[in-house]
Amino acid sequence: MIHRTIPTWQTRSWQDELSQLITEPEALFTTLKLDLGHLEAAKQAANLFPLRVTQSFLNRMKPGDIADPLLLQVLPLAEEFNQHPDYSADPLEEAESNPVPGLIHKYRSRVLLIGAPQCAINCRYCFRRHFDYQANSPSRAQWLDALSYIRSTQDIDEVILSGGDPLVISDRQLAWLIDELSAIPHLQRLRIHSRLPIVLPSRVTPELVNILTSSRLQPVLVVHCNHPQELDSEVGAAFALLRNQGITLLNQTVLLKGINNVAETLIQLSKELFKLGVLPYYLHLLDKVEGTTHFDQNERDAKGLHMAMLAHLPGYLVPKLVREEAGATSKTPV
Ligand SMILES: *Cc1c(COP(=O)(O)O)cnc(C)c1O
Ligand code: SF4
Repeated sequence: MIHRTIPTWQTRSWQDELSQLITEPEALFTTLKLDLGHLEAAKQAANLFPLRVTQSFLNRMKPGDIADPLLLQVLPLAEEFNQHPDYSADPLEEAESNPVPGLIHKYRSRVLLIGAPQCAINCRYCFRRHFDYQANSPSRAQWLDALSYIRSTQDIDEVILSGGDPLVISDRQLAWLIDELSAIPHLQRLRIHSRLPIVLPSRVTPELVNILTSSRLQPVLVVHCNHPQELDSEVGAAFALLRNQGITLLNQTVLLKGINNVAETLIQLSKELFKLGVLPYYLHLLDKVEGTTHFDQNERDAKGLHMAMLAHLPGYLVPKLVREEAGATSKTPV
């Protein structure tokens, strides 16, 4: 028998990587050699919203640094128990705009489809951390209801596949869904919001790119990058694969206190993204969802950061500063 040594990253598929997520706080602490003084709080907070992180994302964190900007996006903290009257479980009142399970129709021309019941990483600031994925867990039967809703609503010209992360579903399911969508005449564009190209770059395979580009719908992929440290060569290669086949790549960032609320960081993020072919789209103020008060950056400072970006960057590298308001007809410029 001939033995060959193949680096593990070449032999493991993205599905394997997804099945080997880090979900135990102990594992996170041991791998990163973190101060165990924070472990008990992490375990408690993980009961509110589970810990989930890919090995790939973890590899980009600095060992021993409890304040690492990537770590803080996934590390459960005692602060998540803080209550505040302005923070609720469903601040965007999405439940009001949920005409059929798995579908959110808030803005006139576009509709959001929950592509999957989970994500590859659980972001602690997630506005859907209390979302009822159980009642909105996509199945084919449920997608059929969503598809008939879209078919019967002429105003809709864009479908957005969103979080849970739509790219965790299999190529086969995704191809089926896109096929069904492209048969609806009034649809023009297919938009996908996903963190996978960043947190699990191996998900971006030639097969996936082929599925996204072979329908008549114009594909747009919005990645969610919050910090330049998230961008490494594997992520760059994934972006290149997507971009080279004509997929428009945009980025949205959530402004997070303690993670990216520094002008230089945001400026560098825009520049690094553009080098990799991604245009900044939105800089979001945090949604006031329970358990996230510690990430909130007040509006005055947010505006100051945005002004600094305007002063240092060409206009096309400055994302729009927005907030989401329940009942508004679009995102609200700040
Ligand atoms: C943000 C969002 C959209 C997309 O809005 P754009 O301004 O087009 O990016 C659509 N539907 C819902 C429910 C949203 O939250
Ligand atoms: S990837 Fe998006 S939907 Fe999923 S946990 Fe993170 S913020 Fe929430």
